[in-house]
Amino acid sequence: MTGDRPPPARLFLPGPTEVREEVLVAQARRLVGHRSPEIESLMASIQPRLREVFRTGHRVYVSTSSATGLFEAAARNCVARRALCCVNGAFSDRWREVVAANGKPHDALEVEWGQPVTPVLVDQALAEHDYDAVTVVHNETSTGVTSPVAEIAAAVRARAPDALLLVDTVSSLGGIDVRVDEWGIDVCLTGGQKCLALPPGLAFAAVGERALERARQIPDRGWYFDFLVFERYLERRQTPTTPAITLLYALDVQLDRILAEGLDARFARHAAMARHVRDWALERFDVFAADGYRSDSVTAVTNTRGISVAALNRWLARNHDMVVSNGYGKLADRTFRIGHMGDHTVAEMEALTAAIDEFLEADGE
Ligand SMILES: *Cc1c(COP(=O)(O)O)cnc(C)c1O
Repeated sequence: MTGDRPPPARLFLPGPTEVREEVLVAQARRLVGHRSPEIESLMASIQPRLREVFRTGHRVYVSTSSATGLFEAAARNCVARRALCCVNGAFSDRWREVVAANGKPHDALEVEWGQPVTPVLVDQALAEHDYDAVTVVHNETSTGVTSPVAEIAAAVRARAPDALLLVDTVSSLGGIDVRVDEWGIDVCLTGGQKCLALPPGLAFAAVGERALERARQIPDRGWYFDFLVFERYLERRQTPTTPAITLLYALDVQLDRILAEGLDARFARHAAMARHVRDWALERFDVFAADGYRSDSVTAVTNTRGISVAALNRWLARNHDMVVSNGYGKLADRTFRIGHMGDHTVAEMEALTAAIDEFLEADGE
């Protein structure tokens, strides 16, 4: 029952993003019990495909939660002494807040918004104090900045080999190359509703042996996000609690679609979409993120023309069945964001920017 509400517009947001029809309808199947052989066979078939997408041999836990739940998981399971939280935008700042809210000692490595976290900064911070965990957001969705996680990982290994590297790839995994094993990420977490183009409600974490070993030494891990509980149930090809079963159906279909496209082709498509949107934004406005670190999945456009994003969205929805995103956090008024992630195509991004151009002309710009 949608009542009198108009049908929703196509989402060009940095999450949730547009979900393809065949993935949406995959959810409309009869449920199975979450302790049934059917769910075990589904979970067993999902696991190797998830590992492929994460480019890892580690187990990948499936959590019925938003991605932020796994911020909590990483903090509780992996920080015993003190964490270094790299903060260069709203989501990395939220992670720091979650670490603090769980009573974990930490320091923030503050980087100006729009700039990346760099290996040099991380190395300096690690040289000053003893940390047993480092949190980094690979792709800061609030600013549209991608930080060089491969190099940061190398810096952490060199300076503090016992520190666990905890990485948020919520708006990159499945759209921008992430190599969990090759880079040496101990916990790599993501959510379904960004580059994986799933309906919201599932989050995933690739968790290595070192992280599990750390969890074993920490007494108060909570329960819902306890890695050791996840591990026990994954061994039975189940989840600790009732999972969002219909979302697992959608995941099953979407993993096949992702792997059929091929990860490298998917990354190339994201890069091509990003190039188009960036070039357009640089001509009409400006791009917030520092040159050289601009994200392939989201562009924060600096609103140099002072347009009303609310008016733009009303117009886009009415005339083109599209919607873009406000700026996030303290950038709400200075930027607007275009999500070019998930299953969107270059042609769709071209249609979007052409539609915004129409608005700019109609607006008397
Ligand atoms: C969207 C996002 C989150 C939060 O994800 P939820 O699923 O809303 O909890 C965290 N980090 C980044 C980088 C994000 O883009």
